[in-house]
Amino acid sequence: AKNAGKGRIAVFDRTMHDDVVRRMERESQLRRAHEDDRFELHYQPIFNLHTAKIQGVEVLLRWRDDSGEYVSPSEFIPMIEEIGLIQQVGEWVFEHAMSDLGGIENTAPSVVQDDFYLGFNTSPRQLSDPFFVERLDEILLRKKLDRRRLKLEMNEAHDIRHVDQVRRTLLSLHASGVGIQIDDFGKGQSSLMCFQTFPIEAVKIDRSFTRSIASDHSHAVIAEAIVGLAHHLNAKIVAEGVESVEQLRRLQQWGCDAAQGYLFSPPLSPDELKRFLADPSRS
Ligand code: C2E
Ligand code: CA
Ligand code: CA
Ligand code: CA
Repeated sequence: AKNAGKGRIAVFDRTMHDDVVRRMERESQLRRAHEDDRFELHYQPIFNLHTAKIQGVEVLLRWRDDSGEYVSPSEFIPMIEEIGLIQQVGEWVFEHAMSDLGGIENTAPSVVQDDFYLGFNTSPRQLSDPFFVERLDEILLRKKLDRRRLKLEMNEAHDIRHVDQVRRTLLSLHASGVGIQIDDFGKGQSSLMCFQTFPIEAVKIDRSFTRSIASDHSHAVIAEAIVGLAHHLNAKIVAEGVESVEQLRRLQQWGCDAAQGYLFSPPLSPDELKRFLADPSRS
């Protein structure tokens, strides 16, 4: 019995050890990817459901590991946060997206409206940096992007440690014309708190909700109530992950303002996006 116990412990240790090593490898790959400028950006068009036009794009970070495979952002972004690189990588994302799309209104004037925007994902960790606004201003100036073309999506709103600093950051951005959106609404526990604390312009209904609105009655009721609630609070509603016409119909019935998802377009590379904007019907 003693030996069996020992064996178990040895196996357990080995597994832990392997996990730690794999993790460290991943982390050093991520550091190198950042140093060597090897992240990529994809863009997912967001459709205005009232005008049936593209109103903006969501910027999505992409990373291929050393084997060349894309790794899911839900896996590597928490790692970037843990190794303390999220501010730098976040700035990289701002810079590169603004380079890619800075002159987009000239590329596709008929599709790209005056209020066409770039939506960026930002974690509370980024927004609690007291120098966030200053650095963002510097990038906007350098890239000559009108700040009214900028929207920030804030996720994990239930896990904010420095609420006061995040609030200061968001109030300052809001005052200067940057739109603030709550991401993944319906997924966290206390997202309602956001409306009282932050200047929220729009709410993004989480993909997990959109998925079940056409099949699950209670999800449908909740989603409809979220749309009503947001509108009462003067916020717009954007649905994520719309994959079927059935889902789209429901969302339209409820007065949802905008939507994104595979039904319209998957996330696109910069070149694919330019082609898409030049002729959305053909893509
Ligand atoms: P998110 O903000 O909820 O982004 C939407 C996710 O849904 C994206 O996953 C997108 O590829 C996926 N998606 C879009 N349409 C559909 C659809 O019709 N069906 C399905 N099943 N999925 C769809 P992705 O690219 O894997 O990103 C995962 C998460 O990583 C994002 O979730 C966001 O929270 C985070 N993320 C991505 N880029 C950044 C970034 O630059 N900074 C930060 N802080 N987070 C980022
Ligand atoms: Ca998002
Ligand atoms: Ca998210
Ligand atoms: Ca989501």
